[in-house]
Amino acid sequence: MAEYIAGYRDFARVRGYCLECGRYGNCWACPPYDFDETALLGKYTTISLLATVITPSEGVALTPETVDLIIRRERQRLDRMLLGMEQDIEAQAERTTLRNPQTAMPSGANAVGAPAARAFFAGTCLLCPPEHCTRRENLPCRHPESIRPSLETLGLDVTRTTSGLFGIELQWGRPDAPPAYLTLISALAHRE
Ligand code: SF4
Repeated sequence: MAEYIAGYRDFARVRGYCLECGRYGNCWACPPYDFDETALLGKYTTISLLATVITPSEGVALTPETVDLIIRRERQRLDRMLLGMEQDIEAQAERTTLRNPQTAMPSGANAVGAPAARAFFAGTCLLCPPEHCTRRENLPCRHPESIRPSLETLGLDVTRTTSGLFGIELQWGRPDAPPAYLTLISALAHRE
């Protein structure tokens, strides 16, 4: 984690992109947060990064509509998998505590003020239509247990992550020139 932060985090610049996004302050999965981003990352010693590259079948055009559909389906699969991994690590930490009550760290949040593992999703929350996120009315999130921040909202440079660590050039695409493939970056942070 320390190595990743040193090489790929530029909080001021990357947060600047969030400030220009309509989701800023209008989605509970997006900034501004009620926690300190640097402190959250500092709770974990290890981060596992996952790159998902989706290449369309021959003849399938990546229009904005198909991109939206593909990303929603893949995010459902990825987010469910990452939340399951969080739970597995948390359960393992609890079993360790029960087996070694004298030496083991107390599990999860009790140990250092954060769960034993934390997922970072590949983008913003897709659970409700953006215009219906309850944050717009300052009401509690409908699914707080199912939302997680993305790496970029914590200041991590996802474009450099894909090229520098995975050898994949991120393609953004334009209405007149759709991308050849889609790339999603998600992650799981945990403590050794
Ligand atoms: S689950 Fe719904 S209310 Fe909660 S952050 Fe996502 S869009 Fe907003």
